[in-house]
Amino acid sequence: MKYHIVVLGCQMNISDSERVRALFEKLGYTFTESEDEADILGVIACSVRQRAIDKVYARIHKWNKMKRKQERNILTFLSGCVLESDEKKFLKTFDFVFKMGDLDKLPDLISNYGVTMPGNLKNRNNLTDFWHIDPQYANNFDAYVPIQNGCNNFCTYCAVPYTRGRELSRSSQDIISEVKSLIDRGYKQITLLGQNVNSYGSDKNGEEISFNQLLTKIGEYGDSSGKEFLLYFTAPHPKDFNEDLLYTIKKYKCLANWVHFPIQSGDNQILKKMNRNYTVEEYEKSVNKIREILPEATLFTDIIVGFTGETEEAFLNTKKAMEKFLYNMAYIAIYSPRPGAQSHKWDDDVPLEEKKERLHRLSDVMQEKSLEYNKNLLGKNMRILLTSLDRKGEYYQGVTEGKIVTRVKKGEENLVGQFVNVKISEIAPMSIEGVLVE
Ligand code: SF4
Repeated sequence: MKYHIVVLGCQMNISDSERVRALFEKLGYTFTESEDEADILGVIACSVRQRAIDKVYARIHKWNKMKRKQERNILTFLSGCVLESDEKKFLKTFDFVFKMGDLDKLPDLISNYGVTMPGNLKNRNNLTDFWHIDPQYANNFDAYVPIQNGCNNFCTYCAVPYTRGRELSRSSQDIISEVKSLIDRGYKQITLLGQNVNSYGSDKNGEEISFNQLLTKIGEYGDSSGKEFLLYFTAPHPKDFNEDLLYTIKKYKCLANWVHFPIQSGDNQILKKMNRNYTVEEYEKSVNKIREILPEATLFTDIIVGFTGETEEAFLNTKKAMEKFLYNMAYIAIYSPRPGAQSHKWDDDVPLEEKKERLHRLSDVMQEKSLEYNKNLLGKNMRILLTSLDRKGEYYQGVTEGKIVTRVKKGEENLVGQFVNVKISEIAPMSIEGVLVE
């Protein structure tokens, strides 16, 4: 029997789907790329975003139509970041909806529908809880490792504390053993995932190590392993950022020189309204520390434009911040109220056209600043991890240690999943190009 899963969300949802896939495989199902062949069809979604909700409905309507037409016993499910208030609504169209933390109950949910599972049901006894499910990673060189679930920060635009619940740290023993096993198996890029990674462990009342200690343990093992790989983490919250972490990154070669540091807005009034709990001045101090301790690091950020109450003046403060902090990449999102989040009750008072215009103005700054940075890379030899091939199979897509997207002309061999030396020959805003060197 076959299953098919569609992921409509962020890295956390991708990581969730890797565990769901592992569970299906344990139960004896095989993955199919084709929705038409599947006996079970599922969506792992960030259902708090309207666009994702629209896509979820588009899928399920298509699948339900297929079910009626094919007259087959196809099961459909939804999981991911689903608001409790939405669960009932979705249950009208999906056969079942479950929270990711209840993944171990999936076999029971399936058998409730009278479906006999293909594999040995004894496998179910191996299932403990979500963290202990060995994920089915998307490939053999790049893996996400969740280190916590949920969030206590209640940023007013975000529904995560309501969809995923309060912050819960995974045991450091489990994280370290998953990371070690990935290193030993030759994974090249490992990303620790959490909603606020630097508060890792704080829910355990002193019984768990800190995030910095966790990185230190991984750094020690990684550097002594003799394997070439890079460890990333996302996302830290600026209010909890501390410089010890930067010294740890500096100390261990395997900890990547890359900092994802979401500013969200460059205006103190808006930051307050977002409940971010830092000021632009405090954020700037942290950026100065990053530049001082990790001068080679690239800096990525997240920005929301057009948040409720964002005046032109407030927006200009964000633009100023972008010009000052010289980001290599900014994920800029147009604000849209998310059901479940506090700001959903507020007037969404910046017109869409204005939001789009602000996004374009920030993108222009982004392009200009990243191009300035990339100019310094011209002619350099860099270590690049090749991550995929383009459609025609003529160029690799890869990334530098600082996650700058790099295009590399393919030779005879297929080197996807490997680190290679590349001489940078062309630059563009937010990307570079180069040729393989011996
Ligand atoms: S945006 Fe704020 S509330 Fe949402 S997950 Fe991140 S830190 Fe938590």
